[in-house]
Amino acid sequence: MMKTIFKVMMMTGVLAITAGCGQKKSDFKYLLDEFADLKVMRYQIPGWDELTLQQKEYAYHLAEAAKWGRDIHWDQNCKWNLPIRHVVENILENYKGDRESKEFQQFVVYAKRLFFANGIHHHYAEDKFFPECSQAYFRSLMEAVGEGNKCTELLPVIYDPNTLQQRRSTSTDGDIVVLSAGNFYEGVTRAEVEKYYESIEDKTDETPIAYGLNTKVTKDANGNIVEIPWKIDGMYGPAIKKICEELKLAAACAENDIQKRALGLLVKYYETGDLRIWDEFNIEWVKDTIGTVDFINGFIEDYNDPLGRKGAWEGYVNIKDHKASERSTILSANAQWFEDHSPVDPRFKKKECKGISAKVINAVCLAGDSYPSTPIGINLPNADWIRKQYGSKSVTIANITHAYDYAAQESPTSTLDEFAWDEAEKAFYREWGSWADEIHTDLHECLGHGSGQLLPGVATTAMGEYASALEEARADLFGLYFTADPKMVELGIMPNKDAYKAEYANYIRNGLMVQFTRVELGRPNTEAHMQNRKLIAEWCYEKGRKDNVIEKKVRDGKTYFVVNDYEKLRDLFAQLLAEIQRIKSEGDYEAGKYLIETYAVNIDPALHKEVKQRYEALNLKPYGGFINPDIVPVEKGGKIVDYQVVYNDDYLKQQLDYGRKYGAL
Ligand SMILES: [Zn+2]
Repeated sequence: MMKTIFKVMMMTGVLAITAGCGQKKSDFKYLLDEFADLKVMRYQIPGWDELTLQQKEYAYHLAEAAKWGRDIHWDQNCKWNLPIRHVVENILENYKGDRESKEFQQFVVYAKRLFFANGIHHHYAEDKFFPECSQAYFRSLMEAVGEGNKCTELLPVIYDPNTLQQRRSTSTDGDIVVLSAGNFYEGVTRAEVEKYYESIEDKTDETPIAYGLNTKVTKDANGNIVEIPWKIDGMYGPAIKKICEELKLAAACAENDIQKRALGLLVKYYETGDLRIWDEFNIEWVKDTIGTVDFINGFIEDYNDPLGRKGAWEGYVNIKDHKASERSTILSANAQWFEDHSPVDPRFKKKECKGISAKVINAVCLAGDSYPSTPIGINLPNADWIRKQYGSKSVTIANITHAYDYAAQESPTSTLDEFAWDEAEKAFYREWGSWADEIHTDLHECLGHGSGQLLPGVATTAMGEYASALEEARADLFGLYFTADPKMVELGIMPNKDAYKAEYANYIRNGLMVQFTRVELGRPNTEAHMQNRKLIAEWCYEKGRKDNVIEKKVRDGKTYFVVNDYEKLRDLFAQLLAEIQRIKSEGDYEAGKYLIETYAVNIDPALHKEVKQRYEALNLKPYGGFINPDIVPVEKGGKIVDYQVVYNDDYLKQQLDYGRKYGAL
């Protein structure tokens, strides 16, 4: 279900100019702000000026629709998030006391973290984070702006480490529904929710709706389980109403009739909450491969739900990068070749690979679940049967990827220098790494997720809580395996037959070591993409040990993992891909569970500590996010004659502006 790729910042952090990136413009500053474990950047929108006025108007209204959903996502993350944000906004805007004091600065850092996470829990690690200023000081700020009456209710939510500990609980022994602070369930247990969906799901339906995607589950006065729908006259109604208004304005200036029909269906879905109409919308949306402007708008990814049903609200507006799209067009055109040559059991292969459309896009507006932290690749829709019958859209997001690279150039240190074994490995990565990394992402998105098939009768939900990590591993392995294929050179995608080695060395380094910089000491590895990388790297390390495929070396007390045999490593990737595809195709829950629990979760404490120390000494921020440019209508004689892109450079200002302008709930 998880079809999104996030940038792993420690994977790059080096000078990374490749063909297509162009030269960095020295007058545009990408890196805006750094605090806690976060950095905030901005991005440019290449191609905006080439759009027609109508396309700009279309993108403008889609972006407005995206921004109007902001509060929904805040509330989904935890029902206390909006009340807390409103207080924090009030303090930032109206506090008249000393703003230079250490404690006020600590409060500002908390505010920035809150905005970044869209709530009180870390956007990636799920754990609640805390202000460094004292509770008494926070209280004094609230009192100073007339919010003193809310202290009793809100301060424990902010400061008490024992309540609302995690947004999505990663507990292995407790009830993950009860323990999760997310606002998808209230007053119900995991068993009750599972029993409820068991009772309403039609298992014989070959085109099943995404049961529970757009509802909150709770109990009515009689103790019966009920779903509260997120729709125009339901929960989140005021925000959804504004979204629909903008979507209708967008439909009026759409580029083609498919977009118009799709938007009509989307509005109808928001009005009714009917998930059949959501499917109809997605089918129309997949068909639009001709337009330049495209969007995501709805309850999309289920990462944040411990049971993997509820869609986090997300908005995304983008424009096609026609030139850069050629590469993924080549991959898509050869989809069947890749499927036929994939190293999995023929029974699990698609006989016909349909409609995999792939393109390179540039982001125009990020919102909801994609803001400020944003993916660099997306593959939608999520419904398996729609993907099978109608295909899916795969995109890689060029301007975001490039902004990461440029921002890294503005930083003096890199993880590559710290964690790669020798100068040769570093130089090789500098030459080919960024390129090979992009190709791997393309393969993962264009082909990886879309490959393979389930055996008849196997439920798409068969892998339970391990589904996301296993699905990401499947797509990553598909990409890793083919990155090294001579076919890639033949197709003109890879520059030479050895370039893939840069990605292999980097992937292993990251999966076995570097990525743990993001995990708090003493905690297990819980995020799905990180589990996927650890699973792959650890499994290959163990299985290749007798042949010394990957060697652990220690120098001056520092650990390194060095790939000695790239061909054997590729063979190990193939073996694991075959096994994970078998697990998914057969619905072998126990085998999936075994892989994750054996290889993906537990981090060697000594290595973890070492990695954290080495990383901290670099003083880099492991997570990045972006602010949006503003799209501003230009009026002349009462008529809009243009939409201009204005690049802001103030992170807090954008957050406060959005709060004032798009505060619907
Ligand atoms: Zn993925």
